[in-house]
Amino acid sequence: MLEFILSLYPNFDKIYGPYQSGDGRWRIVLYKTKISKNSNSKKRTISYPKALMEIKLKRRLDKNEEVHHKDEDYTNNDEHNLEILTGTKHRKLHIKKDAFHRQIKTYCCPTCNKLFQKRLHQIRNNQESKKKKGPFCSRQCAGIYGQKQQKTFRKSGTPNQRRSRPFKKLAVRLHQMRK
Ligand SMILES: [Zn+2]
Ligand SMILES: [Zn+2]
Repeated sequence: MLEFILSLYPNFDKIYGPYQSGDGRWRIVLYKTKISKNSNSKKRTISYPKALMEIKLKRRLDKNEEVHHKDEDYTNNDEHNLEILTGTKHRKLHIKKDAFHRQIKTYCCPTCNKLFQKRLHQIRNNQESKKKKGPFCSRQCAGIYGQKQQKTFRKSGTPNQRRSRPFKKLAVRLHQMRK
């Protein structure tokens, strides 16, 4: 499948990759193994998602065409996650999404009931969307809430603790027998 990219870049005859670069993005490198005197470029690096789109469309992308990751995770190069946008549209979309993540929201702390404000991207794991408890006004409040949760957890007893009780009794009995 990936080999097909060579037919779109006829100057090259070998592919290296895909590999993940230091910035987290996936790329491939095209090589020219047979080098003639009057050619100087021996390799060319291409974005892996771009290569995937070019293979799918069986053509090179235009200068004004950019590949966008729908879920904004640029390590997710599943074909359903990729779409082609014009450069202008693409930039507009990212400005809009950035504005969304920067918006300030008011929350009520589950521990102290204080109202506080945070930017959406400052909320760890985006607790709001995952319907987890929180966000909290401070680390202290998150800590207090966590401790309370552990206490109620202990009272109800986890399966592990229930299992460990008979062992404890047995240990005590063995100890008494030794006496
Ligand atoms: Zn994008
Ligand atoms: Zn609080």
